[in-house]
Order: sequence, then C-alpha cells, then structure tokens
Amino acid sequence: MKRVCVFTGSNPGNHEHYNAAAVQLGEAIAARGCELVYGGASLGLMGSVADAALAAGGRAIGVMPRGLFRREIAHMSLTEFHEVEGMHERKAMMASLSDAFIAMPGGLGTYEELFEAACWSQIGIHAKPIGLLNVRGFYEPLLELLRHTVREGFMRETSLSLFLVESDPARLLERLAAYTPPQGAAVR
Ligand code: AMP
Repeated sequence: MKRVCVFTGSNPGNHEHYNAAAVQLGEAIAARGCELVYGGASLGLMGSVADAALAAGGRAIGVMPRGLFRREIAHMSLTEFHEVEGMHERKAMMASLSDAFIAMPGGLGTYEELFEAACWSQIGIHAKPIGLLNVRGFYEPLLELLRHTVREGFMRETSLSLFLVESDPARLLERLAAYTPPQGAAVR
C-alpha cells in the first residue's frame, strides 16, 4: 500500500476530536511511508490531514478541478498538485493514483466519493480496500443505514464487509494494508 486516498470534510466539524483525528491520520500515513492523495484544499479536515502528513515529512498529492472551487483554497505547499477538468476526472485520478481509500467525517462531498468507491468495489471495478475512520462514532448512523439496506433486501450482507471500520488511524491503516479482496473480486 503506497498511496492512500482520503475523503473528508472541507469543514472542520463542531468538535476538536475531528481535527485531532485528521492530524493523527496525516501523521500515521507519513509514518508508514505512504503518500496521501486527497482533494487538494487547504481548509477543513482536508487541509489538516495534508498539513499533518507534510509536517511529518510525508508526501501529499492534491487533485482539484479547475475553476470549480475558489482558487485561494488550494493548498500551496503540496508535493504534487494536479488540476483536472471536473469532479468526475478528479475522482478518477484520485482513484487511479491510490491503493486504498479512507473516509473520515465529512459532508455530501465525502459521502459521494465514499459511495462511488464502495459501489465500484461491490461490482468488481476495483478491489482496493475502503476504510471508515469512525471518529466520535460519526459513521454509526451510516452503518445503521447500510444494515437497514441489507435487512430490506437491497444490498448483500457480504457487501457490509467492504467497509473496514476503526476509530484509530494507525490501526485502520494496518487493516487496509492487510486487506485481501474477496474471492472473485476484480483486480485492476
Ligand atoms: P464535504 O464532505 O461536502 O465537505 O466535501 C469534501 C469532499 O468533496 C472532499 O473529499 C473533496 O474532494 C470535495 N470537496 C468539497 N468541497 C471542496 C472544496 N471547497 N475544495 C476542495 N474539494 C472539495
């Protein structure tokens, strides 16, 4: 596992725990000798993960759509910064650069990126591990929604195991690195 893609909020959230976890995750990615791939912004939890990875001597790669976000929110000190044409191209590039995905707490942007990664794994487009960093139990309601989806017959129980859930960043990275895709999963 060389590069880890992190989806997370462009806002900091209402509790200091979120920022602290973003810092720990950035540091843990650097400590493993992995590179961070993310959306390239300097604000919110996104900025905190990147700042922490860089401060710990790691590498951070940003991918941002040209013209979609205000230019001044782009992080100016990244190891690499890629400008792409739009959100679809951004997600495609973030995914192709990365060996694993982590969703930290965030909003609609984070959910959208997380669900594309999970859906594409479910149908075999990729076989990369997906982690949820469950800070302050943030993802409990989402996990309950997924269990509800299984109970109601719209998702296979086995698809729940696509989500590796941990509250500790270093432990989550450990599990992502040890992940073996389910038999029959596509490796692309
Ligand atoms: P959200 O969770 O709604 O704050 O959105 C965060 C996710 O969507 C990030 O992982 C980014 O890829 C993308 N995103 C949303 N807002 C921004 C922004 N202002 N700058 C850069 N990326 C953003």
